[in-house]
Amino acid sequence: MDLPSAFQQRIRGQLPTEADLLFGALAEAAPVSIRLNPYKPLPHLPELPQTLWNKDGRYLPIRPSFTLDPAFHAGMYYVQEASSMSIGFVLDQLDLQGALALDLCAAPGGKSTLLATHLYEKGGMVLANEVIKSRAQTLKENVIKWGLPNVAVCNLDPKHFEKSRVSFDLVLVDAPCSGEGMFRKDEAAREEWSEEHVGLCASRQKRILSDILPSLKAGGYIIYSTCTWSEEENEANMEWLALEHGVHTLPIPFPAAWNITKKEKNGSIGYAFYPHKTSGEGFFIALLQKKGEAVHSAKKEASYPGKPAKEDLGFSLKNKPYLFDWYDGKYAVPENIKELAGELFHSLPLIYIGTKVAEQAGRDWKPAAELAFSLLSDPNAFPEIELTRKEALHFLRRDDLKFPEQPLGWLKLNYLGQGLGFVKNLGNRSNSQYPKEWRILMNLPEELPGLWY
Ligand code: SAM
Repeated sequence: MDLPSAFQQRIRGQLPTEADLLFGALAEAAPVSIRLNPYKPLPHLPELPQTLWNKDGRYLPIRPSFTLDPAFHAGMYYVQEASSMSIGFVLDQLDLQGALALDLCAAPGGKSTLLATHLYEKGGMVLANEVIKSRAQTLKENVIKWGLPNVAVCNLDPKHFEKSRVSFDLVLVDAPCSGEGMFRKDEAAREEWSEEHVGLCASRQKRILSDILPSLKAGGYIIYSTCTWSEEENEANMEWLALEHGVHTLPIPFPAAWNITKKEKNGSIGYAFYPHKTSGEGFFIALLQKKGEAVHSAKKEASYPGKPAKEDLGFSLKNKPYLFDWYDGKYAVPENIKELAGELFHSLPLIYIGTKVAEQAGRDWKPAAELAFSLLSDPNAFPEIELTRKEALHFLRRDDLKFPEQPLGWLKLNYLGQGLGFVKNLGNRSNSQYPKEWRILMNLPEELPGLWY
């Protein structure tokens, strides 16, 4: 489908001398990019072009079948559009030591996993929220596979947060938008686009922003982003925040050589990524700060459901996390975020937090599937078996695997050194612990396609 003509007119108004260059770029194939998980390094990382604004971002020469790559399932990298990784550069500008961050529109989880990575060593925590239930499940899966235990997940409408009394140092609003920046990747985005839709999106974005503002601490930051270039959804919304709510944008020191376009409307600033100027899709980002002194360490009440679990799992965890009972098993969070996690528990209905480490098995505890992916998994806790790519894919399909040479009992299965799951080895067969809802449905081809590493 051709670019909508009203869209073309808009762009000619916005970029009079560059519109044809942009339309040309939109007719080309989109670059394929991934973000590496620095906590799960690939053993042999090839030399690849890096994203200018994020040291973990790489451009791939081909679009491989990610489904047929066990490293992808093990959370060793995330497939993410390159421009949106610029959030990493914005985070680098802020003091986020011990910060509690909310990713308000989080599914499928690209920015939540980026945020969690950024905050992990700073003792910070992310609450990843998604309003649509089925998408919240995908978000949870992606957060679990990424493996960082400083994340909680919830499934709430933005208007719910004000009542909860919890307040955040940083709120990321990656707003649902008219999707102009996705035109070359996604045919449906072209079909859905209309002037009316742009207007509807802009009003929805205002609603989302005004719903969440009361939950931002004084001195706290908002990162607002969209994948569109329409002024109504971007600069105009930033101007509206300044006029209606007294929340002002801050400059982001993107180097000029990166070719990111500064947008300004009556003193409100944002930055646009155009694919004829930067290697990535269309994107807009703005940084805002709520007036007042930062109140970083003002602790709210923290509480946990159930009791702190006794250390009776029968297997060890790494770095002695705080262990507690929650509805379907035992969960753990790192000691240094115990207070932040407790504050979330106290205030909001969560669907996941930290790492689920164990489930009841009769009178004993068995390792939870989630633990295999987590940085809290202790490499000395279970015999670890390195799988070939083909074996790993069979495991991910929940096909029968046998380990007659290995010890009986729980085995942790790895691919390139990173956990994929557990099986209970019975000698002549094994029972898989891999969740049914995550399994690969695709039949494996006789010959597996090439990988990018
Ligand atoms: N941040 C995500 C990432 O990086 O993977 C992408 C988020 S996508 C641009 C916007 C999300 O907002 C979608 O998951 C969508 O379901 C959600 N959404 C839709 N309507 C919403 C609303 N009224 N309030 C909050 N979120 C909404």
